[in-house]
Amino acid sequence: MTMKHRLLFLIAILLSAVAAASAGKVYGVKDIPNVHVADRTRFLSNPDGVISARAQQLADSIMSDIWSKSSAEVVTVVVEDIGDDTDPDTFATELFEQWGIGKKDKDNGLLLLVAVNQRAAVLRTGYGIEGVVPDITGGKILRHDLFPRFREGDYDGGVIAALSTLNTIITDPEAREELMSVYGNDAGAGSNDGEEMWKAYLLFCLVISSLLVGYVLLVLVSGAEPQEKYTRLQKMRLLTAVATPFCLFMPAPALLLLLWQMKRLRHEAPKCPRCSTRMRRATPEEESRWLTPAQQTERRIRSVEHDVWICPSCDYGMVRSYPNPSSPYQKCDHCGAKAARQIDNRVLRPASYSMEGEGAQTFYCENCGNQTHKRYRIPRKQRPVVIVGGLGGRGGGFGGGGFSGGSFGGGMTGGGGASGRW
Ligand SMILES: [Zn+2]
Ligand SMILES: [Zn+2]
Repeated sequence: MTMKHRLLFLIAILLSAVAAASAGKVYGVKDIPNVHVADRTRFLSNPDGVISARAQQLADSIMSDIWSKSSAEVVTVVVEDIGDDTDPDTFATELFEQWGIGKKDKDNGLLLLVAVNQRAAVLRTGYGIEGVVPDITGGKILRHDLFPRFREGDYDGGVIAALSTLNTIITDPEAREELMSVYGNDAGAGSNDGEEMWKAYLLFCLVISSLLVGYVLLVLVSGAEPQEKYTRLQKMRLLTAVATPFCLFMPAPALLLLLWQMKRLRHEAPKCPRCSTRMRRATPEEESRWLTPAQQTERRIRSVEHDVWICPSCDYGMVRSYPNPSSPYQKCDHCGAKAARQIDNRVLRPASYSMEGEGAQTFYCENCGNQTHKRYRIPRKQRPVVIVGGLGGRGGGFGGGGFSGGSFGGGMTGGGGASGRW
């Protein structure tokens, strides 16, 4: 190839690329934008701008009017091209069913499809609207309202004329009565209730998270001893940990703060109360010197953890105790150590409907070896209560949300209507 040929070749490629890009889009059923889903006031899908903005507004308002007066769902789609190999009738039926135009109890949907390049228009009716807009009427609308104007390139005028005729027919009082659905308009849309529930849930999570953070801060600024603060935080640990995944991880900062502060409270060396020197942790030998036999038993059976701190300058010693909340051991009445374990539990007299019963528990203390018996009462048996009636009704909402999207009502078509080419 000469230089000149190469250049021409390049230009040809560029030109064909530009031509391909500028050629109108060929729509499949799935490509048609369902404008009503994004905005419930819209019923005309006009992605190529065949219909002018002014006529678009008018068309939407006519169809919206029909919709609110009769609940019938009239939808118009105007596109440049659906492809020459596509049957417009099939296209319209598929689109109708995919969008579910019309309420499902009345099947009162109607779709007007216009494909400019194919010079084809289809008026597809749902089962329930066939009586009001029979095929013969549909054919008249195409022949009288659409085609003469379309032939002159007046797409705005054709669509508005057809919709005006449909408006007159459908909003006739008798027709309205026949078409009116028991379902509300947009009943299939993501309901406001769901959105309100979600908002309430978010608010709930936010409140829970704030309360948890607030609680941790309150404990920290309280004048309590470090081991007391630790114990209070420890009691909230499980709740906070469980709440975290249930509240969209919003309480995560509270949980992290809580765990971090528990660690700090437990491990930060305290100052000596006598000489203010920073204390140090005792070695195991020192600990056994400082802890009482009862404390050593508690440590062995893990019912209480004891930290021993020693002042390096004046040899003052201090024991900080942290009861283990999940320990099965109880405080022994005899020696006071948290080392009493239940070894027996028997019912002395079972409860009846008329009298309460009595039981006895026996505890054995791992520290002093003492056995204690504790009597306890068993509450009187209750006759089962039968609750008649269902649960209460739904609670009220929280006022209007900003939801503006819509949906069609899930209607079907039997392929009725009319079609033709101009
Ligand atoms: Zn000291
Ligand atoms: Zn004891």
